Amino acid sequence: MDALQPVRGTRDLIGEEQRRHAHVVQTARHMAGLYGFDEWSTPIFEDTRVFSRTLGETSDVVAKEMYSFADRGGEQITLRPEGTAAICRALVSNGLTQSLPQKVFYAGPMFRYERPQKGRYRQFHQIGAELIGVSEPFGDAETIALGRDVLAALGVAEVAVLELNTLGDSESRLAWRDALIAYFHEVRGQLSDDSQARLERNPLRILDSKAPADQALVRTAPTIEGYLTGAARGLWDELRRLLDGFGVAFRENPRIVRGLDYYSHTAFEFVTDRLGAQGTVLAGGRYDGLVAEMGGPATPAIGWAGGVERLAMLLAAPPAAPVAVAVVPMGDAVQERAIRVLQALRAAGIRAEAAYRGNFKRRLERANRIGAAFAVILGEDEVARGTAQVKDLASGAQVEVVLDRLAAHILSVR
Ligand code: ATP
Ligand code: MG
Repeated sequence: MDALQPVRGTRDLIGEEQRRHAHVVQTARHMAGLYGFDEWSTPIFEDTRVFSRTLGETSDVVAKEMYSFADRGGEQITLRPEGTAAICRALVSNGLTQSLPQKVFYAGPMFRYERPQKGRYRQFHQIGAELIGVSEPFGDAETIALGRDVLAALGVAEVAVLELNTLGDSESRLAWRDALIAYFHEVRGQLSDDSQARLERNPLRILDSKAPADQALVRTAPTIEGYLTGAARGLWDELRRLLDGFGVAFRENPRIVRGLDYYSHTAFEFVTDRLGAQGTVLAGGRYDGLVAEMGGPATPAIGWAGGVERLAMLLAAPPAAPVAVAVVPMGDAVQERAIRVLQALRAAGIRAEAAYRGNFKRRLERANRIGAAFAVILGEDEVARGTAQVKDLASGAQVEVVLDRLAAHILSVR
């Protein structure tokens, strides 16, 4: 029979890859906890409108990337393409819009129908943080500082630059939008087909275009700088001051617009040059309109999402496999004792495995194959004396240890 394959754009995580992945998620979860963010888990599928109503119909995600289907009962369902809209849905559904601020961390799989390539998959994973109910730029700066500290704890802050922009308030953005439409109209014929279509409906999207044809034109497009209202400029100035206060270095990039429609004011991306075209590892912004679009009251919010696969690739050294001990009984007479030793080691927090079968040599081979650091060898003589031989499998050195002290001994030498 043909061996079945994973679906295009999906991957199995096994061994070192799974350890890298888990390390990214656990590090982020821990750092978010230090900043006072609590973890939420929401379903991986939602009513399609959770996304179609909020991300913007001209966004890449809604226009061509969503996994949507009618379920057996005829409900329109979408596998979540991102976390923020679902968190806002959960905020409203759970009646938490009057219990603000909410500081939310999440981690889990996301689904987008994209062209698979290195760092871009159809099922991928994100870590994310949302600070909901805070309009002060202090919230923006603190949330960005959390992102930077996650990258620092992963040891990748040095290779990821924070690019920062403001999208202003809606008044600033409308004026800028008119300027962009006028500018791109002049060069319409040189734009990619996608961007020609974007021109009428959402010219900001052109700034986010990955088409080479668009990029030279984007470089000389008008920036929002000249169109900011006094209030929007005040917030922008304060944010940059506060980031200095948090010790977060950044580079201003007037072309950062983000791919989804719900952003205003702050927009940012941590970008690396180590991953080719898939260089954005963690990105976000302020989304003050989203909770209202979800049917809740007007609620300010800021957040980010990080790509776990891209961060896992950036990690310098793979997280070490846990130190393991193999318990090697010599003969059936000591089996019962071996079980007690195994369970006692595990109870002491030591990863312990049985070398299941074969003669002594085969069992030691197996201990090596599972990557054990030590073998605990139980012979009849040792058991009679209440001891075991502990063999360091790297050096070959062997010592006899009293069974009562076995766990303590291994913890002290591992
Ligand atoms: P890109 O511009 O690379 O398509 P995006 O703007 O669509 O990214 P966001 O929606 O901001 O991405 O998602 C946040 C992060 O999630 C990205 O910066 C990236 O690290 C990761 N990410 C997004 N899409 C994918 C994907 N298909 N595969 C792997 N990681 C992804
Ligand atoms: Mg994308």
